Amino acid sequence: MSKTVVKFGGSSLASAAQIKKAAAIIHADDARRFVVVSAPGKRDSADTKVTDLLYRCCDLAADALNFDEPLALIRERFSQIAAELGVTLDLDAEMDAIRAHLLAGPQREYMASRGEYLNAKVISAYLGFDFLDAASCVVFLDNGAFDAETTHRKLSAAIAHSAGVVIPGFYGAMADGTIRTFSRGGSDVTGAIVARAAESDLYENWTDVSGMLAADPRIVSSPRSIDYITYQELRELAYMGASVMHEDAVFPVRKAGIPINIRNTNAPADAGTMIVPTLPQGYTGQRVTGIAGKTGFSSIHVEKSMMNGEVGFGATLLQILAAHGLPFEHCPTGIDTMSVVVNTAHLAPVREAVLSEIEERLHPDLLKVEDGLAMIAVVGEGMVFSRGTAAGIFKAISDAGINIRMIDQGSSELNIIIGVQEEDYALTINSIYQSVIKTA
Ligand code: ASP
Repeated sequence: MSKTVVKFGGSSLASAAQIKKAAAIIHADDARRFVVVSAPGKRDSADTKVTDLLYRCCDLAADALNFDEPLALIRERFSQIAAELGVTLDLDAEMDAIRAHLLAGPQREYMASRGEYLNAKVISAYLGFDFLDAASCVVFLDNGAFDAETTHRKLSAAIAHSAGVVIPGFYGAMADGTIRTFSRGGSDVTGAIVARAAESDLYENWTDVSGMLAADPRIVSSPRSIDYITYQELRELAYMGASVMHEDAVFPVRKAGIPINIRNTNAPADAGTMIVPTLPQGYTGQRVTGIAGKTGFSSIHVEKSMMNGEVGFGATLLQILAAHGLPFEHCPTGIDTMSVVVNTAHLAPVREAVLSEIEERLHPDLLKVEDGLAMIAVVGEGMVFSRGTAAGIFKAISDAGINIRMIDQGSSELNIIIGVQEEDYALTINSIYQSVIKTA
């Protein structure tokens, strides 16, 4: 029988009404036996996430200030949810334990974890599923790093025979029982870890959008959603700022080859986005999967005649950057020129030192820095196989009257990186979107 791990985000579980939608989704398919939950999120834009209320209690307690108000709001949230679902939960005992912890000297990560913990208790009772505390099977090392292999062993054993289990996302524990959390949005990571441990066929990540969009909706109006995207394409787009789920959530499932399906709890009939190891055979969808970009880059441009004959020139240039702890993003080269694109904020503290060392060690004919650059990644595995896509991209940019400052094609051949001046950023993305994504 197939196995699906379902993870529901905070907005999908923000109220009893939302939890009922999630339960209907779970009950609609027997494969959905492994459920990972976030803490209740915002019910509307003015609302506060339970996790943020928990952090607030912790900060107040740490300053020896009164935390009654946020704590009462948390209590009210859960008691309302439990009452509307008709679930009995010993909220008094749970809240007393949290209060005692706050008074004894709060730990931020323990406090933050209580939202997922309580929500999983309520939801497991409502579904009639087992509750499995992540503290017993999601393992962190003493240095605070996540221990993937011990977790995999413990979790696999804990859920092997489960007919239905709810696991709180976002946290785990060290050997001495101290609670640790992943970074914000980390329930996605728990979902991926559970998907691998359950040897599931699919990891469904239920959120409040019908999949990942092909471009940032703040820049392109109503962009289309992506039906299929490979892990590799997702990584390229996520690196350039497209956000759909926690970045670390991809690794465990990618390793196991488990596809991820981003779905919408409020529109369960929508197919959402499938994140897959490779595109399905005969897939004839989009050549360009998506566009993403970022501003705030600088290009260090070096020119020296006969550079191509000088062995070690490029290595020295990159070594200088590395010695100053400056990571680089791209490095397009010509016969006698080399540019290194770096994040302007990273460059700022070491700028003078890096430039003078380049002068001293490489004696370039020309050394200059161009600031105010935006980098745009056009990503799509099919792109290289389709004639004219690159031409379409560059024609769209030139028709819009935009001057391209830099072009780089990743060696994976699934992206083309275009550097433009920051003032041309939005127009470039729109032009590319309209010409090679919207009309495809
Ligand atoms: N509740 C946590 C947060 O707000 C983790 C999560 O929802 O994934 O970041």
